Amino acid sequence: MNPDHSTFMSTIGLSKKHIGDCKIAIIGFCYDDNSSFMRGAADAPPLIKKALFSESSNLWSESGIDLGQPDIFFDAGDVLPDAGKDMMATIEESITSLLSHNLCPVSLGGDHSITYPIIRALSKRHPSLSILHFDAHPDLYDEFQGSKHSHASPFARIMEEKLVNRLVQIGIRTINGHQRKQASRFGVEVIEMKNWRDNLEVSFDTPVYISVDLDCFDPAFAPGVSHPEPGGLSTRQVMNLIQKVEQPIIGADIVEYNSRMDLHNMTAMVCAKVLKELSAKIMSNIG
Ligand code: MN
Ligand code: MN
Repeated sequence: MNPDHSTFMSTIGLSKKHIGDCKIAIIGFCYDDNSSFMRGAADAPPLIKKALFSESSNLWSESGIDLGQPDIFFDAGDVLPDAGKDMMATIEESITSLLSHNLCPVSLGGDHSITYPIIRALSKRHPSLSILHFDAHPDLYDEFQGSKHSHASPFARIMEEKLVNRLVQIGIRTINGHQRKQASRFGVEVIEMKNWRDNLEVSFDTPVYISVDLDCFDPAFAPGVSHPEPGGLSTRQVMNLIQKVEQPIIGADIVEYNSRMDLHNMTAMVCAKVLKELSAKIMSNIG
């Protein structure tokens, strides 16, 4: 993967620019081989970008940042699996390459397995790091269906390698006995959906990585996921928590959008909204 190779985005809004002038790299990982139940997440990256640039909205964030300004986004294209090459290694190399250009990587999945190699790359640059993880599922299985790289397992890999200081999970509503044990073994801070309260505040004392699995939302807001789980978060609740993060956000991902399950493109628009507010928050720390 060469981040100088733009593929899709140049045709829908992001022009090809000098890489050193930009702040945020948007990179797509068209990969869903580690999904346990349903394929489809691999199709998501170009669809999310299309929704971001849809003329139905504009590129201003709620916080007042115009993301349409030049020199904010760098188009790092979409990465596809290459037969004969380990996709986990490819993802890690792609992120390492973006970091070497001082770009903040915002990754579009793909299934949630992509987060582990992304964090491996980021942790080398950020020895102190916390993850704010929105999901219906804790994704802490030691292995799932015989796979250590299942999309049900990325946070087990991250925690056993001690790649981050803290993992804070929000929206969880499917935790079972095994994953509860894993959470306590790794010291994961699980904020279960049943304990949700509107004035929830999470504060950090390190830079923060944000991982948004689209199934954190209630299916009423985001039906386009492989594992719809009722009783989830609203778009507003997630936006408010992202906007309240006080530490620098040094990377993010938006994963598990499955257009095959979507209705009227509504989940694509939720992805675009999250992407916009996340990017604005990243920019507010860069200045
Ligand atoms: Mn997940
Ligand atoms: Mn999930």
